[in-house]
Amino acid sequence: MALKTPQQYEESLRKLNLKVYLQGELVKNPVDHPIIRPSMNSVKATYELAQDPQYEDLMTATSHLTGKKVNRFCHLHQNTEDLVKKVKMQRLLGQKTAACFQRCVGMDAINAVDSTTFEMDQKLGTPYHERFVKFLRQMQEEDWTVDGAMTDPKGDRGLSPSKQADPDLFVHVVEKRKDGIVVCGAKAHQTGAINSHWILIMPTISMTKEDADYAVSFAAPADAEGIFYIYGRQSCDTRKLEGGDIDVGNKNYGGHEALMVFDNVFIPWENVFMCGEYEFSGMLVERFAGYHRQSYGGCKVGVGDVLIGAAALAADYNGANKASHLKDKLIEMVHLNETLYACGIACSAEGHKTASGTYLIDLLLANVCKQNVTRFPYEIARLAEDIAGGLMVTMPSEKDLRHPTIGKVVEKYFKGVASVPTEDRMRILRLIENLTLGTAAVGYRTESMHGAGSPQAQRIMISRQGNLEQKKQLAKAIAGIKK
Ligand code: SF4
Ligand code: FE
Repeated sequence: MALKTPQQYEESLRKLNLKVYLQGELVKNPVDHPIIRPSMNSVKATYELAQDPQYEDLMTATSHLTGKKVNRFCHLHQNTEDLVKKVKMQRLLGQKTAACFQRCVGMDAINAVDSTTFEMDQKLGTPYHERFVKFLRQMQEEDWTVDGAMTDPKGDRGLSPSKQADPDLFVHVVEKRKDGIVVCGAKAHQTGAINSHWILIMPTISMTKEDADYAVSFAAPADAEGIFYIYGRQSCDTRKLEGGDIDVGNKNYGGHEALMVFDNVFIPWENVFMCGEYEFSGMLVERFAGYHRQSYGGCKVGVGDVLIGAAALAADYNGANKASHLKDKLIEMVHLNETLYACGIACSAEGHKTASGTYLIDLLLANVCKQNVTRFPYEIARLAEDIAGGLMVTMPSEKDLRHPTIGKVVEKYFKGVASVPTEDRMRILRLIENLTLGTAAVGYRTESMHGAGSPQAQRIMISRQGNLEQKKQLAKAIAGIKK
């Protein structure tokens, strides 16, 4: 098959037997649930755009395993050009969906697991890389969406996994059998879990010997026996149940996160890619996080493009687009957004080949990229709110606009420039609300802070990779200091 059509993707999800709880109820049909469906549409866009000849170069790649055309989300980066195209693809999808399109976590996971298992096998003589490549072949052949899952609930942050009062606060092996392992625990805020065919689990921190049972990586079908999901709430999510299309801000697209629970799940050995090799868990975490920090230099920029466009339109509709301070605010938004993009491209262009042949980004620059992402989208959102004006949060509802009597009043008093329909003005303000305070703010704001690791995680990496000693030597040489 190699490339699924969007329809085939949707149909394949319907065949899964996912156990999903949402607002206290077991969801019978996640694909058509009004709260979940927009997030499915975002992943579906990764299949749609791959079919479009104008995006073929960004959205697809040639498999190094089979020579066949595959979706770039299933591809291992073979050179720095692949790394750059990945970021460009993410910007494109951010522009098309104005939401988190979720599929990147799997792409980042396969690239990290590939190089780590290769190096682990070289050092320890373990059999993981071959197993992983077999899984990857299937993933490429079936064009699966795979949910890369790293973040454990973590319980008491002052305690290591094995010292927690409850052993399940980190995913761990509870039994090793002849034919496989049994795992328990959970992964928290898992992006796109309900829209994925398979999940690819990785440890969340570097482990020590005493935490060896927690150094575990494996793949499992998303609907495997013992796995269930509790869907995360988003601000304003129940607006999707109202049936209109203005108040939701972005009717068609969204993202989601869920708690993914493993209740004694059996994993056959062929799908186990790490089991106890604690000294390699740090490498896997560092590489996955690095790739996902690169990712944000693409996806957040694409969503930022939409937000900047919406702010500019709000200024137009208010008749304020000639004001020099508004022009300057838009310039600042573009400047911040393109700075993020520059970081995403830079860490890609400076990537290097790992022992398995898969390319890794420059880790220092990827961490700098993500550190900037923890700040700039907030400033871009602040400026968008400034330009939009207070109406974005005080406006009446779509139902008021459509009302036979008061609709005319809403039309009259919420009009800006006479030539622009009030409805258009309301639509653009609701889009800004959605991106800065509503469902999409999960992906654009808070995820910019905490997704792919909270700011301090990047600062630790920057301090490790920053090479201060070399900089001191440079200064000494210039200053004429001998030793
Ligand atoms: Fe992809 Fe961005 Fe969503 Fe991560 S946050 S899955 S990089 S769209
Ligand atoms: Fe993310």
